[in-house]
Amino acid sequence: MPELPEVETVRDGLDRLVVGAVVRDVEVFREYSVRRHDGGPDSFRDQLAGRRLVAAVRRGKFLWLPLAEPSSQVDPSLRVDPSSRVDPSSRVDPSSRVDPSSQVDPSSRVEPVETHPAAALLAHLGMSGQLLVRGAKVTGEQGPGPSAVLADEPGRATAADDWRHPHLRVRLHLTGAPSGARYLDFVDQRTFGHLSVQDLVPDGAPPSNSPASKARASTTPPSNSPATKAPASTVPAGYGSDLPLLPQPVAHIARDLLDPNLDLEDLVRRVRRRRTQVKRVLLDQTVVSGVGNIYADEALWRAKVHWARPTEKLRVADVRRVLDSAAEVMREALAQGGTSFDELYVNVNGQSGYFDRSLAVYGRENEECRRCGTLVRRDAFMNRSSFSCPVCQPAPRSAK
Ligand SMILES: [Zn+2]
Repeated sequence: MPELPEVETVRDGLDRLVVGAVVRDVEVFREYSVRRHDGGPDSFRDQLAGRRLVAAVRRGKFLWLPLAEPSSQVDPSLRVDPSSRVDPSSRVDPSSRVDPSSQVDPSSRVEPVETHPAAALLAHLGMSGQLLVRGAKVTGEQGPGPSAVLADEPGRATAADDWRHPHLRVRLHLTGAPSGARYLDFVDQRTFGHLSVQDLVPDGAPPSNSPASKARASTTPPSNSPATKAPASTVPAGYGSDLPLLPQPVAHIARDLLDPNLDLEDLVRRVRRRRTQVKRVLLDQTVVSGVGNIYADEALWRAKVHWARPTEKLRVADVRRVLDSAAEVMREALAQGGTSFDELYVNVNGQSGYFDRSLAVYGRENEECRRCGTLVRRDAFMNRSSFSCPVCQPAPRSAK
């Protein structure tokens, strides 16, 4: 399963290669892959066609592309103060972007009329989902890493832009991409992933089946949508855009550890308020998002904290060390994972090159702890496993 660093690698690639493009058409080859979209494949196509992809944003393992209204339908009264616009320069590493002015077909240029996006294309990659950009003119200057999002099967897939991967589920036809990208393909062998178009809502908004959101859904001319009102918060909702809104299904998901707007001290307090085992809190997406089973074990080993330690008995310094370690492990994976993105999916179980090379405890039962040499132990944990060193990470009485 793609973990947060892999999803960030994809986000960064989309940011550089397809942001700015207009969706010309949509082909859905497998309905199941848009099952989370209200209204089915036809509605999915209708809501995407003609829209512009204005950013690539991530929170935890959720990835979304806010959609600009088709400029021809924008009511001039909805014009947004330019100062409140999403500032593209705030995106990650602007120096690596392709200069749009040099490559965009002038006929496809979007008019300067813009509102806050009211909806977004939401992607969840599930176990095996990939977003592949085809037809982009990528130069070697961009170096290794996210550009690898281009080629799912190096040496073969890029031979023809029109080539269809055997597991192609959805294809977006693009025009006007700064990179020249022609298609954004959603490829998903095991079909646990999904795409949908979702309303953008303020952080923490109630779920879509709540009375409040139903009332809102029944009155959705653009001028009434929450997206065009003054947002409740001006804090960016995810990594990759200044937009303070996020897709409805992500509204209850907590910020992740790589989010520059994460309030770490607040997170430490919330972790210690829980009455549970520390690893369960790490995996709780409503407390902190994007930490999977593997990174949780690696972080706890680095922090020398046993997975079953009760949160209320952890010192502030312990919690901070666990969270710092988790962020550190993910940053290292991000740095390495970018160079071998294709390999992430060679094994459908999602064991990436990074994992093979760099894991300290995960999957190493009865192998020597890399710090003290004691044999690593495996315990059953929530239908999965927890790996730990019995010496570096002494078990609490409750787990013995
Ligand atoms: Zn050890």
